[in-house]
Amino acid sequence: MKCIVVTGGVLSGLGKGVTTASIGRILKDRGYKVLPLKIDGYVNVDPGTMNPYEHGEVFVLDDGAETDLDLGHYERFLNVDLTGESNITTGSVYKTVIEKEREGKYLGKTVQIIPHVTDEINDRIRRFNSKADIVLIEVGGTVGDIENRVFIEALRQLSRENGNNFLFIHLSYIPVILSGEQKTKPTQHSVKELLALGIQPDIVIGRSQMPLAEETKKKIALFCGVSERDVLSNQDLEDIYFLPMELTKQDLAGLIIKKMGLKPAPPYTFRWDNLVDKINKCTKQVKIGIVGKYTGLEDAYLSIKESLKHAGIHNKAHVECIWIESDEATLRDYKKVDALLVPGGFGSRGVEGKIKAVKYARENNVPFLGICLGFQVAVIEYARNVCGLKKANTTETDPQTPYPVIDLIEEQKNIHDKGGTMRLGAYPCTLKDKSLAGKIYDDKKISERHRHRWEVNHDFISILEKNGLVFSGVYEERQLMEILEVPGHPYFIASQFHPEFRSRIEHPAPLFVGLVKAALKKN
Ligand code: GLN
Repeated sequence: MKCIVVTGGVLSGLGKGVTTASIGRILKDRGYKVLPLKIDGYVNVDPGTMNPYEHGEVFVLDDGAETDLDLGHYERFLNVDLTGESNITTGSVYKTVIEKEREGKYLGKTVQIIPHVTDEINDRIRRFNSKADIVLIEVGGTVGDIENRVFIEALRQLSRENGNNFLFIHLSYIPVILSGEQKTKPTQHSVKELLALGIQPDIVIGRSQMPLAEETKKKIALFCGVSERDVLSNQDLEDIYFLPMELTKQDLAGLIIKKMGLKPAPPYTFRWDNLVDKINKCTKQVKIGIVGKYTGLEDAYLSIKESLKHAGIHNKAHVECIWIESDEATLRDYKKVDALLVPGGFGSRGVEGKIKAVKYARENNVPFLGICLGFQVAVIEYARNVCGLKKANTTETDPQTPYPVIDLIEEQKNIHDKGGTMRLGAYPCTLKDKSLAGKIYDDKKISERHRHRWEVNHDFISILEKNGLVFSGVYEERQLMEILEVPGHPYFIASQFHPEFRSRIEHPAPLFVGLVKAALKKN
């Protein structure tokens, strides 16, 4: 078993997910198969039932698992498709333990946190380990949090069994005071906290505004029980995709390989310097308005932001995201941008504002991309303003609407539990010949990820089509409408699925690439 554990110290929000993803990527570039795993201390079984304002976006995988947004970083940096096994929560562990207890599997024992809960955690890690050269575990939160204590204890036990096949990397915050001095005391304390839990970190990475000074490294080495070579810098960077190169410059992969005694592997080469060059050469500028209702927290739309960035780089353009709160938006907001994007969402708040944004985009030839709820409101807007079906709506917002153009998917009608019960994960979609979708995907059949309960109501498809709307992508098995477009418009396209979950720096999502391209043409 080869396992790298990343813990966080002092503060949350240090970019532990991006750092973990970058560590994974530099090891992948050295030829190792790395599987990341995120541990979250909350009692929810998965984040699917949480409001995005609580925890940021819910990231959906091919297998339909609703996971922490850090899995998005892992997939984007490592260019892999993960499964739900890559996210463990307190809720999911306890659920299994309690179910086993009810089935009588503990044979009369008193079921305890140690060993039963810790064993369940470690069984999952062991099972996972068989699929990779290295398991890369990120422990959510900060060392000292009560939520992740059981996980740290489980990892301590597992590391005792596995000697130097286990490596602990501690990412900690190094504040800079007015005099400009980098202070190590908070890091010293957080390492002490880790030591009290039985873990000596092997490598300490200091998050700071600037690279760590030699003096700072010396102090950390002295007080935290590591050598100077084991202290690395993770300074503020212009772009998160610069981090793998920064860590490569400090030969973090070499250090890990040596410490863990990893066998040499044929390297897989990706030129991070080329990518950095490409990002630096994005000279064009484009403004994309995102009309949502969680715009106060950009993490709620993290994958959309990243997808726009990927698509921008592909088009040699820097994309500026302009956040537009759907309930408060005015014409002036729409006029400021080169394209509009209406993302997914739940519930009725903000729906009318989104419909207005779609109308503006459609009538004024503004490039438009709708995603999930954004697709549904595009159908509503078309029904109301082109087909003349006044008061058309989704039954999610208005169950009494005379024209329920968007309605619950048949199989959803008898589902009452909220957790993990939507139409989730990857489904194939067949694209219509000669459509915009067919052209931008340059394919006939695609696979994209979903997260929804409502769909286009079949009773209204023919009236929408007669009035010019084209459904250019269909899930054939159930005849669900997956993509719509308005011919004659420079770029008006929407998808019931979430293309943002598949966008990678190495493979930007076609629907986003097309949006940025159309926006550039307009500005
Ligand atoms: N609320 C809508 C549905 O469940 C849209 C979901 C979404 O945008 N992810 O169908």
